[in-house]
Amino acid sequence: MLIVIAKALILRLPGRYAGRWVGREAPLVNIAMFIVAGLGAAVASAASTEPIAPRPPDADRLEARAIFKDLVETNTTHAHGSTAAAELIRDRLLKAGFAARDVVLLAPADKPTKASLVVRYRGAGKLKPVLFMGHLDVVEALPQDWSVDPFKLTEAGGFFYGRGTIDMKDGDAAMTDALIRLKRQGFVPTRDIIVMFTADEEAGGDANGPAWLLKTHRDLIDAETAYNLDGGGGTSKDGRRLFFEVGTSEKIYLTFTLETTGPGGHGSLPGADNPIYRLAGALMRIEAYKFPVVTTATTRASYKAYARLQPGPDSADMLAVSGAAPDLAAADRLSRKPYDNAQLRTTCVATLISGGHAENALPQRAKSTIQCRLLPVDTAENVKATLVRLAKDPKITVTEDAPPITSPESPPTPEVMGKVAAVVHSMWPGVAIVPTMATGFSDDRQTRNAGIPSYDVAGVWSELGENRAHGKDERVGVASFDESVEYTYRLMKALSTAN
Ligand SMILES: [Zn+2]
Repeated sequence: MLIVIAKALILRLPGRYAGRWVGREAPLVNIAMFIVAGLGAAVASAASTEPIAPRPPDADRLEARAIFKDLVETNTTHAHGSTAAAELIRDRLLKAGFAARDVVLLAPADKPTKASLVVRYRGAGKLKPVLFMGHLDVVEALPQDWSVDPFKLTEAGGFFYGRGTIDMKDGDAAMTDALIRLKRQGFVPTRDIIVMFTADEEAGGDANGPAWLLKTHRDLIDAETAYNLDGGGGTSKDGRRLFFEVGTSEKIYLTFTLETTGPGGHGSLPGADNPIYRLAGALMRIEAYKFPVVTTATTRASYKAYARLQPGPDSADMLAVSGAAPDLAAADRLSRKPYDNAQLRTTCVATLISGGHAENALPQRAKSTIQCRLLPVDTAENVKATLVRLAKDPKITVTEDAPPITSPESPPTPEVMGKVAAVVHSMWPGVAIVPTMATGFSDDRQTRNAGIPSYDVAGVWSELGENRAHGKDERVGVASFDESVEYTYRLMKALSTAN
């Protein structure tokens, strides 16, 4: 066993899931180790020191870093678009020997700066392809808000700093290097490997790459299963590897407008029919309502895992909701925390309100926005019917702002979890693997909606509680980046090989 140097054990919080452990006491010793295998989990004790994880050969380590630098230094915020970054990856792959027909750059005709790149690494064609995905765009970063130039890759104190260093140009660089490395080795996968590097996942979102590709070029990206490097990944605390998350589901985004009108009139003559009061009554009932507790294969498995990984006051309640029939009293206690409440049920909350037209007039109109996040098993019809029932007022209309993108859970099957676990454990032996449901959403909702089960499998590690994705001084540990390059190569190889 090698002595552990905390610095070498790195850091990145998988952006989207960053809230998971914030504010919780972390397990510092005797972390339980288990491998999720469908619904069962075997528990054993883990070593308390960490071996140094494998790194890529020098040539690949340096190549991946060079690609990473080029990508970070290519501004791909919403205003700039992703075409320049897609071209950069395309040129690297052409130079590495990929045929032009297998490296296809595509953009909507009216949005030439929002290109995506679809790469096909041809295999023996015996099975349906496997799809890897990563977005190229980043959230805006204002240089005056940062300690370093966000669009330069800066190495300092064991970290790479720059916009996109964890979300997710690290993953894009790792996938590009993996393709080049496999090509150089003459590797022939059992099935084709497709990698899509896409536009417009972040704010803006009017030219979302996966949505557009699925609609217009489904044949190019059709696959049995998708793996996204935009979520998942490892969390460590003071140099100890705590757990490795694999995203298997997300909540569904759905917004409603509640609106009502009344006769109005002079402010000196109030009557019974006031739209503001009627709407307020409906909103109070919606606030008081709790959607039923429903667990999924993912949330049951994650509660079972976290109960063991984090012995503490909540462990018994976590275990009590991880069975086939969740204990409702335990669910109630857990639900006092917004994160657990969101894990256990569909939520709806008032986010906007307006009404009336003059200080001295009775209102003729009142309106509110209700933002709902549905469990993957819930339906828009059910939620709408619930809101109508709670409004209890035929004069209040309840309207969906837009149809939801339904995103069914991708089951954490032993087959999928086992394959990912084998690669994870080849890098970081014995680490606990936890399937998770994100309360937000990613491009997975597009592929899941299209019937392709999708899993978040980023390979970087971050320190518990650190979340700089979308924020100031975004960073990734240098060693963590190098490890993720090796991990991504192994993952791509394993998931495209029949076993
Ligand atoms: Zn992202």
